[in-house]
Amino acid sequence: MAYLVRMKINVLCFACMCFVMAASAGPKPKNPAKTSPAWLDTYSVQSDSTHAGNVILVTLDGFRWQELFGGAQRNLVGFKKFVSDVKSLKAAYWSKSKQERREKLMPFMWGTVANTGQIYGNRKAHSRMFVSNKYRFSYPGYSEIFCGFADKRINSNSYPDNPNKNIFDFLAAQPAFANNIAAISTWNAFTHIINSNRNGVPVYTNLLSSADTAAYTSNFAFQQFTTTIPVSNGFITDDTLTYHFAKEYISKFHPRFAFIGMDETDHFGHAKRYDAYLHTANLEDAYLADLWNMLQQDSVYANNTTLIITCDHGRGKIPRYRWQSHGVKYPYANETWMAVIGPQTPAIGEVHGGAKLYHNQIAQTIAALFGYTYTNSPSPGPAINAVLGK
Ligand SMILES: [Zn+2]
Repeated sequence: MAYLVRMKINVLCFACMCFVMAASAGPKPKNPAKTSPAWLDTYSVQSDSTHAGNVILVTLDGFRWQELFGGAQRNLVGFKKFVSDVKSLKAAYWSKSKQERREKLMPFMWGTVANTGQIYGNRKAHSRMFVSNKYRFSYPGYSEIFCGFADKRINSNSYPDNPNKNIFDFLAAQPAFANNIAAISTWNAFTHIINSNRNGVPVYTNLLSSADTAAYTSNFAFQQFTTTIPVSNGFITDDTLTYHFAKEYISKFHPRFAFIGMDETDHFGHAKRYDAYLHTANLEDAYLADLWNMLQQDSVYANNTTLIITCDHGRGKIPRYRWQSHGVKYPYANETWMAVIGPQTPAIGEVHGGAKLYHNQIAQTIAALFGYTYTNSPSPGPAINAVLGK
């Protein structure tokens, strides 16, 4: 299993890791998180019916704004080098209308979120969001989101425990958040990015699929979950289990702040499989819809929970061979997006124009949703006031 984890990471971000290898010759990170049936009972979270609010942060690794806002791209959807069955892919996601294309790809995003939330990052509508770190790959990207600033020392996906404190540390230090935070992810580097060794936040990452695509965790069979997932397909395996685990955890323990790290959009980008990349986005949109529905049917979360959805970096875009990867040498891979839906967030829908936004503003925005001012050194980026209705 550990071999599979290492192999996956190497495949996932081989391109972006190449140029940082020289700068990060340290040992490969070990994953301290363990998942077993026991966690459900041993990690006893205190449910608090007086929640002032909850935030669920979901990331779709390396998912581009081009597909979010434009759906299947004309110059890729029919390109046989990246698509095994052009006819069926076009039947699933193509339309002459850009509006229909994106609704086919992500119906939750362009239905519920667009109607009742906010979606930032459509360059064609002059809404711009960026990562501020120069590296444009995962560890620096997530570190920027969590910490609220970029750190040029964070230059490798194999970086050990993050030396910078982050929004998890900040919230974990608040009495109202004691045992009320969790992270569940496909990629096992999150234990280091969040630094659960320091702040004690549980990070569940040991979720894998076997070679025959039957998903499992260590000693924890798929069918033992009591929650159900809406759909699945033959492309996504690891993220399906991550979502299933996250939904089970959240519905049972009601953390006030939870992070769910999805990964397979990035994986299929590096694998040069545009069909699987689109199918992944489509399925993860269905998971987001299922998550939102679950939250609204839960007495602790209903009308009291903000869902933030974003990515950790963009990808290249011109020429078309650039879409598959990202990194410091990819000029457009710093272009990102963010969607927010929740009771404090006015229904603007797709945002047009506005100031440039950066991922270093997300941590402070999360703190502000809880009514806190997040302090750190260096200073985090400012909260995004429009999310807060200001
Ligand atoms: Zn990558």
